Amino acid sequence: MNDLTIKPELSIVHGYSILFIPIHKKTIHIECAVNNGFITESKKTAGVNHLLEHVLSESWKGCKGNCYKLWNNIGVDMNAMTTNTVLKYYTSGLEEDTEIMLNYIIDIMEKPIFTEKIIRNEKKAVINELLEDKTTSDLNDFFNQHFYILEGLKNADNNDLQIKNLKHLSLKDLKQVFLEYYNKNNIVFVVSGQYNKKEVLKLFHSKLKKYSVSKHNPQYCFSNKNDILFLKKKTKGFSNIMFGFPCTLQYNHPQYLIIPTITLILKDLLFNYLRTDKNLIYSVDVSSDQTICGTVVYIEVGTQDENVKNVIQHTFYRLNELKHKAISEDEIESIKKKYKFKSYSSNIKPSLISNFFIEQYLNQIYMSKPKFYSVEDIMYKVNKLNKSIFKSIMNTLFDFTKCLCVYHSNKDLNVKINDFISV
Ligand SMILES: [Zn+2]
Repeated sequence: MNDLTIKPELSIVHGYSILFIPIHKKTIHIECAVNNGFITESKKTAGVNHLLEHVLSESWKGCKGNCYKLWNNIGVDMNAMTTNTVLKYYTSGLEEDTEIMLNYIIDIMEKPIFTEKIIRNEKKAVINELLEDKTTSDLNDFFNQHFYILEGLKNADNNDLQIKNLKHLSLKDLKQVFLEYYNKNNIVFVVSGQYNKKEVLKLFHSKLKKYSVSKHNPQYCFSNKNDILFLKKKTKGFSNIMFGFPCTLQYNHPQYLIIPTITLILKDLLFNYLRTDKNLIYSVDVSSDQTICGTVVYIEVGTQDENVKNVIQHTFYRLNELKHKAISEDEIESIKKKYKFKSYSSNIKPSLISNFFIEQYLNQIYMSKPKFYSVEDIMYKVNKLNKSIFKSIMNTLFDFTKCLCVYHSNKDLNVKINDFISV
């Protein structure tokens, strides 16, 4: 089968969803993703999911007290991560190790062994990570505090608070989160790569239990604060500016899946304008975050202190231009070609394709029947892009009345958002 046309086959075992993605490359990637994350935490429990992620990764009886050592000896990659809306646990290795990898992933979801010793050890590991990450997270933390209305999302990068909470979070707290969210309605398993589907399904059937629980549904997460905020930076010279544009665009929107492509285009368009034409910036990054909260486009710019005001002004100016005056046909054609080139030249690995479909699955978890799109399906949509679709997407994504902008700089400019968006 052509890799670009791959779509997952969905199997339901005792109510659990399992995505099978056949890629014949001798390797296998087994993952489970949980529809939870910082989003459900309170001020008191901020950081509990990250700790639980670490504890679960170590709570398999087969590890005999050291999972890292076990996987290292076998030659399997194992890792886990916590984000705002998803927790992921995965193993990647050779096809011959399928059984042990499957047993591990299913058991830590079904019957993890929580011990005080594991919790003590993992608290230390998490605190270390948070301390290491502290210097880079100041701007993100300040931004989140203003950008979100849910406590958990506000504090996703509040490392000080999380370190404080880790001291009192107990085994009971971890079990409570586990019981509430780690269930068949919130978990999706993925088996991607080369495998014997019949054998794998047999194992899932024998290990997964039946039990029923409530589902965690999407909710609106954004504060819609419309402001420009200053965060003091001690050093002079270099400033960072961060814009966030939230909107309610969800999976059922016809252009949902091409938003990441649109952000790539925007990155080029903004770079050309701010760097090449105006000589104002060093770097610009445009990214999107598409979760059950909705869609956010982030723009991050690095510039010299004296350019901050100009950069903010010209960014809004250019975005406004793109909302009202369409880009040219030539530009649209070059976007399509770039995207095609990127897709054809990408190396489709079991782990990457697993991520690609987990995201699709979790973003429609509240709908009754999941619908999946292959890389080629998305190419087809990109190919249909024209001037009017582009303009309409720009208007959906960039509602200036909901935009938050934060600049991390040495000097407070005393500016207001209305100075810029009334253009
Ligand atoms: Zn961690």
